[in-house]
Amino acid sequence: MTTLFISDLHLEESRPDITGAFLDFLKNRAMGVEALYILGDFFEAWIGDDENTPLQQQVAEALREVRDSGTRIFLMHGNRDFLLGNDYCSRFDGTLLEDPTVIDLYGTPSLLMHGDSLCTADVEYQKFRARMRDPQMQKMMLARPLAERQLMARQLREMSMAKNQGKEEYIMDVTPEEVVKEMEAHGVQRMIHGHTHRPAVHDLEAGGKPAKRIVLGDWDSHVWWLEAGPDLEPQL
Ligand code: MN
Repeated sequence: MTTLFISDLHLEESRPDITGAFLDFLKNRAMGVEALYILGDFFEAWIGDDENTPLQQQVAEALREVRDSGTRIFLMHGNRDFLLGNDYCSRFDGTLLEDPTVIDLYGTPSLLMHGDSLCTADVEYQKFRARMRDPQMQKMMLARPLAERQLMARQLREMSMAKNQGKEEYIMDVTPEEVVKEMEAHGVQRMIHGHTHRPAVHDLEAGGKPAKRIVLGDWDSHVWWLEAGPDLEPQL
């Protein structure tokens, strides 16, 4: 009985190696485990469940097989795939989670986040995030024709890449005070998130007690996952 956590696969057509690694991971690791949590930026881009590309179909079918093996599947939005919806999740009986969500991980309350909301030094990005997470804004976006959304997504990506190039390292990482604030607000001593592409286990203090922040890695040259069980401390 174990639970797996992954994030930041950034699946896309131009990286069949990552798709292949993910399909292998599902087959060899995720079949029959208790639960699989995908904590955002699962796909490099998402412009609506109606796009339905061959890659999206292939991934949904593979997840369906995992679900049929008994594994529960949970997804959280990232900053790239925040338009991924219930229609897509229903194809493999997956559940969309709010960011943040606290789960009981074998007796330890654990705060799950994508992680982008913790990067508060990036003021410009946080403004953009607030605009993109607005339900009215999302409804408006999803109402545009598919071709228009595809063009918009491409432009947004280019813009974000150009902007991030000039940013200092600390701006792209989480703000330590924000981490403590969130953990204390939720009364937890453990946080699990992705987004920063800096996989590590950090020891810190929250609410005057020892706490851990576990950062999931992105799938690029490495494959990362976190495994936890009743007798297994979460480990990368
Ligand atoms: Mn991200």
